[in-house]
Amino acid sequence: MACPVCGGEAHTRVGEKDGHVVVACSGCGLRYVDPMPSEQEIADYYAKYWVNEKNIRNGPRKVERLKRILRPVLGRVGGEGRFLDIGCNTGFACEAARELGFEATGIDLSADAVAKAEEMYPRCRFVASDLQSFAGGGEVYDAVLCREVVEHLTEAHSFFEALGRVVRVGGVLHMTTPDAGHFGVPKDFVSWKEVIPPEHITFYDRKTLQRMLELYGFEIVNQKLLLKPSLRVTAMKRR
Ligand SMILES: [Zn+2]
Repeated sequence: MACPVCGGEAHTRVGEKDGHVVVACSGCGLRYVDPMPSEQEIADYYAKYWVNEKNIRNGPRKVERLKRILRPVLGRVGGEGRFLDIGCNTGFACEAARELGFEATGIDLSADAVAKAEEMYPRCRFVASDLQSFAGGGEVYDAVLCREVVEHLTEAHSFFEALGRVVRVGGVLHMTTPDAGHFGVPKDFVSWKEVIPPEHITFYDRKTLQRMLELYGFEIVNQKLLLKPSLRVTAMKRR
C-alpha cells in the first residue's frame, strides 16, 4: 500500500502486532499499518467505541484540565469566537471552551458519545459525523482542537484537507498525536504501547505531521518538547 502521507510505494517492514503488519515509508519515514484495516473492521470497532464511565465521573476535573490546555490556544484568536473539537467524545473540551467564552461545537464518529455529551453539556452543540462530511457543510471556526485523532485514520489527505477548510484563515489549530520519532519510543517499534491496531494505525513524527499541516495552509507556531512520546502542536492557518 502506498504511503498515506507522501504516496511513496517503497517501504520496509517494521514488525507485526495483533495480525497487522507495520511498515516504515522509505520516502518520508511515516510508520503505518499495511494493509490498513477494512472499513468494516473499523466500523465494528467504533460501533463499540463508547463512553468511558470512569472518564465521566472525572468530568469536572477533566474540564478544568482542558481549560488550562486551551487557554493559551484560544488566546491566540483573541479569546472569543467559534470553537470546534474533532473527536469530542463526551464533550469535556467543548465545555471547557464554552466556559472560556467560546461558542462550542464537537463532532465525533460515535453516536453514543455524542448522545452522552448532549446530555452532560446541553449548552454546547454536538454532531455525530466524520470531519470530511462535516466540513462539507461549509462551517468555519476560529479555533479547532484535534487531540489523539490522526493516529486513528486510514487516509490522511482528505482529513487534513477538511481540517484546512474548517479553520478560518488566521484561526488556530491545536493537535496532539503520539510521536513515533521520539527518543522514548522502543527500538522494537511494535512493542510501543501506542501501536494498537486497528485503533492506532498511522504514526506521525514531527516531520511528517509538519509536512501535512503545511500542505494544507498551517504554520506551526508552538511545539512542546516533551519527555513522553507525544506531539502537541499549535498551528495558525495562514492561507
Ligand atoms: Zn511516505
